[in-house]
Amino acid sequence: MINDAKPAFKPIAAAGVLKKLLADHFYALDRAAKERTAKVAWCTSVGPVELLRAMGFEVYFPENHGAMLGASRMSTDLIPAANAVGYSPEVCSYMTSDIGSFIRKQTPLQKAYKGIEGVPRADVLVYNTNQCGDVKDWLAFYGRQWGAPVVGVETYRNVGPVTDAHVAGIAGQLQAMVPALEAAAGAKLDPERLRETLRLSRRCSELWREVLETAAHAPAPLTFFDGTIHMAPAVVLRGTQAAVDYYETLLSELRRRVRDGVPAVDGERFRLYWDGMPVWGKLRDLSALFLELRAAVVASTYCNSWIFSQLDPDKPWESMARAYTELFIVRDSGYKEDHIGRMLELYHCDGIVFHDSKTCPNNTNSRYGLPQRLRKRTGVPFVVIHGDLNDLRCYSEEQSRTQLEAFIEQLQDRKSSPSTDYSPPRGGGE
Ligand code: SF4
Repeated sequence: MINDAKPAFKPIAAAGVLKKLLADHFYALDRAAKERTAKVAWCTSVGPVELLRAMGFEVYFPENHGAMLGASRMSTDLIPAANAVGYSPEVCSYMTSDIGSFIRKQTPLQKAYKGIEGVPRADVLVYNTNQCGDVKDWLAFYGRQWGAPVVGVETYRNVGPVTDAHVAGIAGQLQAMVPALEAAAGAKLDPERLRETLRLSRRCSELWREVLETAAHAPAPLTFFDGTIHMAPAVVLRGTQAAVDYYETLLSELRRRVRDGVPAVDGERFRLYWDGMPVWGKLRDLSALFLELRAAVVASTYCNSWIFSQLDPDKPWESMARAYTELFIVRDSGYKEDHIGRMLELYHCDGIVFHDSKTCPNNTNSRYGLPQRLRKRTGVPFVVIHGDLNDLRCYSEEQSRTQLEAFIEQLQDRKSSPSTDYSPPRGGGE
């Protein structure tokens, strides 16, 4: 280990505002479901929330609930309840945690928000398979429970250059959903409201990008671990003024940190890139470990996935289709390699941590030689840790700690004698 001293976490003051925003979000959903003040739509996290928001739905995101189940460490106890009704331990552990939570009637919402007993019942469930196919099966479970319609977009996968044909295909599917959504909403889609929602969503995305890019400064004012918390409005409140206001507040705070040289990691010595899902139940431990190692995880594929700069109020269908298709997760490995290469340069990274997440192959990019190709091309070393987003039975704290400490030692040796050949720690390579 490089340092014995334990530097302190630097809480971000805007977190207080975030807490209130999220409470408002969940209480509004709960009211809508119980008192029928609005219709409730469930939506996958990368869209098409803009369309639903524009139709007046209160929008609920099951993946956000999945992350809460992981972060509260309830998942590992709840997953077996989903396994028992036929959902394999090998499939998305957001889904199995969430289904287990529904079966057992246990949710972190009960503890966090007094009076909320469960997730809001859906009037319609809307998926987009741009992340993966599991989301469709996930929402279908609730559709059967409640007899609610399940509609969605079947996306392209492994896309290289995004062509007009891709965009037209997805735009057509989005438009084809409108009659079913209007029936569930009991109202017609208002084109002007759609344009306004897209404007707000685009602004939210731009601000979120600026927030993340403050970490290009050295020392970085925030890390990936802060990002996983503060990305919540970009996911659950995209398309609202509240999300825009929040990111303006957060950005001002981070710009002050940059101006005053306030680092997220005291004595920042190494700058890392994180690829793959967070290990939600171990965020705090991993964050503490990196602090201890004076390593700032300054950028990630995950946090950057909620930037939708393509959204254009003047071309609503085309721009939504483009935004949902140009996403990192939808793209082929050539695109992914280029993208991560650009990120390494922008954020001046010394190394990459790949998280091979057992139940999320779609957000795992270390299984087909990409780390080795990147290493060859950029010279940036990497390490692969094995774990899972929610199922902590797949994660060994001991092993990850040993690997990460060894990786940092390697980076240290490289800095001390740059000409020394890099010899990868266990789990890493070139
Ligand atoms: S992308 Fe991964 S985490 Fe997200 S729903 Fe699919 S399998 Fe689950």
